[in-house]
Amino acid sequence: MEMLIAEIATREEFLFQGPVAKACFYVLMFASMGYCAWCFWNRRRFWKDGKKITWKTNWLRNILSFILAQKKVRSSRPKSGAPMHLLIFYGFLSLLAATTILAINSYGPFKFHSGTFYKVYEMLFDSLGLMLVIGVLWAIGRRSGFRPKVLSHNWRDYWALGLLLALGVTGYLVEGARIAVNPKPWDSVSWVGFGFSKALGWVTPDSYTYIWWFHAILVAGFIASLPHMKLKHIVMAIATASKAPEWPMGQLQPISMEEVEQTGLIGVSLPNEYSQWHLMSLDACMECGRCTEVCPAHNVGKSLNPKAIVQAIHHASIDNSSVIAAVTEEALWACTTCNACVEACPVLIRHVDLIVDARRNLVAEGKLSGSAASMLRQTGSTSNAWGAPAAAREDWMKELEVPLAREKKEFDVLFWVGCAGATDPGAMKTTKATAQLMAQAGIDFACLGKEEKCTGDAARRVGDEFLFQEMAAQNVATFGQYKFKKIVTPCPHCLNTLANEYGEFGGDYEVQHHTQFLQELVETGAIKQASGESVTYHDPCYLGRVNSETEAPRSLIRKEDLIEPEHNGKKTLCCGAGGGRMWMEEAPDQRPGNRRAQELVDTGAKTIALGCPFCRIMLDASVNQVAPDEGIKLLDLAEMLLQANQKTTV
Ligand code: SF4
Ligand code: SF4
Repeated sequence: MEMLIAEIATREEFLFQGPVAKACFYVLMFASMGYCAWCFWNRRRFWKDGKKITWKTNWLRNILSFILAQKKVRSSRPKSGAPMHLLIFYGFLSLLAATTILAINSYGPFKFHSGTFYKVYEMLFDSLGLMLVIGVLWAIGRRSGFRPKVLSHNWRDYWALGLLLALGVTGYLVEGARIAVNPKPWDSVSWVGFGFSKALGWVTPDSYTYIWWFHAILVAGFIASLPHMKLKHIVMAIATASKAPEWPMGQLQPISMEEVEQTGLIGVSLPNEYSQWHLMSLDACMECGRCTEVCPAHNVGKSLNPKAIVQAIHHASIDNSSVIAAVTEEALWACTTCNACVEACPVLIRHVDLIVDARRNLVAEGKLSGSAASMLRQTGSTSNAWGAPAAAREDWMKELEVPLAREKKEFDVLFWVGCAGATDPGAMKTTKATAQLMAQAGIDFACLGKEEKCTGDAARRVGDEFLFQEMAAQNVATFGQYKFKKIVTPCPHCLNTLANEYGEFGGDYEVQHHTQFLQELVETGAIKQASGESVTYHDPCYLGRVNSETEAPRSLIRKEDLIEPEHNGKKTLCCGAGGGRMWMEEAPDQRPGNRRAQELVDTGAKTIALGCPFCRIMLDASVNQVAPDEGIKLLDLAEMLLQANQKTTV
């Protein structure tokens, strides 16, 4: 019987430790865990004064997707940051899992850590633990020699990485020392520790005990210092993800008149006027700089730095001091609300919410001047962001016979033109081409003409929430007069507002971008694909990133004609027009559009295909600046399709 028991593979816990040592170990561990929990509880001071969280959230999906599957981490910095972080994260997670399994075996009702289970456990976790060591070495090397400019760095980062590395290495050292001092026939399954044991032949029971305690003290030190290191994001990211709002990326939250009457506040001037979740999310920031790396305003030398905004508001939340003073007005106005930062942030921080809330306060305080303020006045007086009178919304129809909603009353498709599409000469070409294609395909459609009003997108993003709400209410009332199945629009900003924001004001509609609608027409054979020798496509932020539509526009161009720019799809580069920036003064050397235009020109394509009137206006000016003599054409996809199909007059 003795022989049989001796041959079952397992290992002794607390080898060479007496009851006093065991008690000391538990005191140490519980003290460090208690201190850690107290520190995290104490961090509530950053967010507990914020507005209560009123929304429901899909915490399980968020944890699985953003924490366990590391969805956001995987999609950025694919060559260095992502694989390195994944190695550290999954290595750390596997060690946590290994410790948890051991604890269940030790303190649970069933003992299972023996025999085949033990062997598989040892082999598996010995292998997985290596990921942590490799990942940390990679991180140290990267910080020492190849650190991205936007990654914050100080001595505490080396301390954190050093601790992680020491944890991994001493774990193997303890294992190797145990094997050396107390060998068993099955030890080779713990193959990394087994390798270490070859160099540890000198280990005695006493020296094993010292090594074991060194490792235990490191573990306790790591747990206790976790809340004080950037590594705190391990915990804070879980908290943030579990309460993250479900509303779409492009949706801003309304404020009501009642709220303003009660609080006397419009927007946010002090940190505690943000929600508890928004403040809590700031505490999860690991200062990785992914948001700053992709910020189009920062990348052309403006003072806007989304990482710095997050840090500034976080620090201001300690003594509830002014948000505007912490982040500066200049930085707030520089934002194009392109959402590149939101898309990039692994801990789900919503920078655009933070910025627009602060802008709302600036607008309410009368601190907006210049052409953006004129845009708001124009929108208020003419319901057109360009200030054109209502009747001028039908100017583009002059040579065409466009069906009008007020005459038809009932139709399948409401063709929503948008202020730019009805006013800007370049954008009007898109409007006409779309209408002609619809007519050619026999679509039962109609336009609102002079009844259409600005959606209020720019007003909302500049910070005039009540002007936006006025526009939304008027448009929803107009929609209510007609019967239609869906709305089609060539403007991604209108699309975003109509699809994601009008629901709050009683307007729930199926809304399509014109490229989505045209894709259906191509698929049914009603019209044929566009053709051109070499075409590059610029994804508009509010279509590709904010509303996740990257395929429909591409499906309209023949694959062999398409040349992708470096930044495409959800990672597109902003043209600089969003967030009301279209109407704000721009220094010639600080135009995001010029950077984007250069990248598009560098593809060598002779045609730049577009899907947004705002992008068209910005890129038209920028291409003229960066490549005036190269004969590059800018065409909306609808125009390209019209050229490829027989031209008919409606
Ligand atoms: S806000 Fe997000 S992306 Fe930006 S530095 Fe912090 S964690 Fe990184
Ligand atoms: S939304 Fe765009 S412009 Fe604004 S901070 Fe984020 S990345 Fe920069």
